[in-house]
Amino acid sequence: MEKGFERLAPPRRGEWRSLFQEKEQTFEDYVARGANRRSPERSLLLLQPLGSPEMGRMAEYAEAFFGLPVRVLPARPLFDRAHVPTRDQYNSSMVLDELADLVPSDALVLLGVADGDLFARGKPYVFGEGNLERRVGVCSLARLSASERRALKLMTHEIGHILSIAHCVTHRCVMQGANTLAESDGHPLHLCPADLRKLEWNTGADRDERYRRLEKFYRRSGWIDDAAWSARQLKKRSVLGGRREG
Ligand SMILES: [Zn+2]
Ligand SMILES: [Zn+2]
Repeated sequence: MEKGFERLAPPRRGEWRSLFQEKEQTFEDYVARGANRRSPERSLLLLQPLGSPEMGRMAEYAEAFFGLPVRVLPARPLFDRAHVPTRDQYNSSMVLDELADLVPSDALVLLGVADGDLFARGKPYVFGEGNLERRVGVCSLARLSASERRALKLMTHEIGHILSIAHCVTHRCVMQGANTLAESDGHPLHLCPADLRKLEWNTGADRDERYRRLEKFYRRSGWIDDAAWSARQLKKRSVLGGRREG
């Protein structure tokens, strides 16, 4: 077992894995599936504010996390067409349809970040929804109680899906499925070894560079444990590789 990564125990009642029997997606599965993958013609990660969510730190974090160039598009209102007045919520599938029309050919991912509340058919509300064939997703900050940590976790999880990464069923990992906010709060910000390998294969992110940027981001946020965790990953690698940090 790699240090700093924890294998999951069997799920407790009510947790995502107790309700949905999802199969493990190995690195080999991921590559064989033909992931939505970065190419010279298609490398941009676009964030589309819907309403007026605060985007600066989200963009910075996304850039550090995925190793992709990130651009924040000019804000626009959530789409009227998707609004359902009787419940004062937005239909997330309809929002996705609208966003899909906005994806330029050089965008690897376009993620809408909404401050309005979303729902999907049969569900009272949803935190996000994505469609990897169309390289588009949307997430809502409306139910996150203005927690930036939750917003960043949700954003990276949804973008992970659009990069074709399935739910993680083996490790504590940001790609774990969550049934409730409380369950999601128990998940870490980091990727497990297999999902990190998928990300690196996809975007070409350099592992040391990535952990360095994340450590800096976490430290500036006052998230000491996350910063220390990233620093340990770096240190472990510099010991393994016999290299020294300058
Ligand atoms: Zn998910
Ligand atoms: Zn994972």
